[in-house]
Amino acid sequence: MAEKRDYYEVLGVDKSADADTLKKAYRQLAKKYHPDANPGDETAAEKFKEASEAYSVLSDPQKRQQYDQFGHAAFEQGGMGGAGFDGFGGFSADMFADIFGDILGGRRGRSRADNGPMRGANVRASINISFEEAVFGCEKELELNLREPCPTCGGSGAKPGTSPSTCGRCGGSGRIISQQQSIFGMMQTESVCPECRGTGKIIKEKCTGCRGTGAITRKNKIKVQIPAGIDNGMSVRVRDKGEPGTNGGPRGDLLVEVRVSRHPIFQRDDTDLYSTVAVPFTKAALGGKMRIRTIDGEVEYEIKPGTQTDTRIRLRGKGVPSVRGGGRGDQYVTLVVQVPTKLTRDQKTALKAFAETMGEDV
Ligand SMILES: [Zn+2]
Ligand SMILES: [Zn+2]
Repeated sequence: MAEKRDYYEVLGVDKSADADTLKKAYRQLAKKYHPDANPGDETAAEKFKEASEAYSVLSDPQKRQQYDQFGHAAFEQGGMGGAGFDGFGGFSADMFADIFGDILGGRRGRSRADNGPMRGANVRASINISFEEAVFGCEKELELNLREPCPTCGGSGAKPGTSPSTCGRCGGSGRIISQQQSIFGMMQTESVCPECRGTGKIIKEKCTGCRGTGAITRKNKIKVQIPAGIDNGMSVRVRDKGEPGTNGGPRGDLLVEVRVSRHPIFQRDDTDLYSTVAVPFTKAALGGKMRIRTIDGEVEYEIKPGTQTDTRIRLRGKGVPSVRGGGRGDQYVTLVVQVPTKLTRDQKTALKAFAETMGEDV
């Protein structure tokens, strides 16, 4: 193991540095080398550990005196001075919170509760639309209960005229950070403060408008733009219509899941449409014009003479617009030849005559 560096050297301060200077120096180092800011960086983790250890000793007047007198030996097993290194037991959670609340609190977009601006959570909802609305897009209005900062207390949750006090347990950071000496070295654990449940604040007199939660629920009419080509189960994001952020953070988003009704005629597969059309057997034999229904309305189609049943034709560009952009799909139509089930005497005679010309035995 490398020789232990001098604690003053580690913190980059003079031997005569006062408590404030020590704290400032450590704060800077901790900010720079904090594991959260350097994920997976072993060197940073080592430096963080080193700085934390140095500060834990030098910030304690008694330990500092021992260190000044005996150096590292003061804290080694059976070392001089008789104090013995007691790990970080003397390094209180409050002291950490005081330092880390500041470092961590200012960082945006953290998922954990803390004092800095935090983005609100996303809210999910669903909406039913018709098959055609999904194909061509539409605008829908959704009525939703959205949480908003309480107008009575301005979102603080405290009764007007009072204000929440900083949580004494975590120093306002919302988190408890503790360090323990283990056989693997210094272990640092972080947990949500049980006293304030991560808010960093204690409300003594609750606002009656929001019962101390800082938020109220209000009905909102929200316009949702459904893009053409959306498919069943897809979601549309409406920005800033989720839960309100905290401490000035932005609102979350509203995610609207779209449920598309079935269509009596068309089936859909991504951007293609499928349908089935009945063709009289005479038209299948002789060929001719037919009107075929598409999602845009009817189109005329020329059936080839001698069309067999289950023939599939393709109507280009009559499918669904791609929701990602890139044009419309096609419509595939299966032609099912219909054999008449009820024939009049005259029709039967005509068909028999036809069969004879084909040499069939009727
Ligand atoms: Zn309120
Ligand atoms: Zn707390």
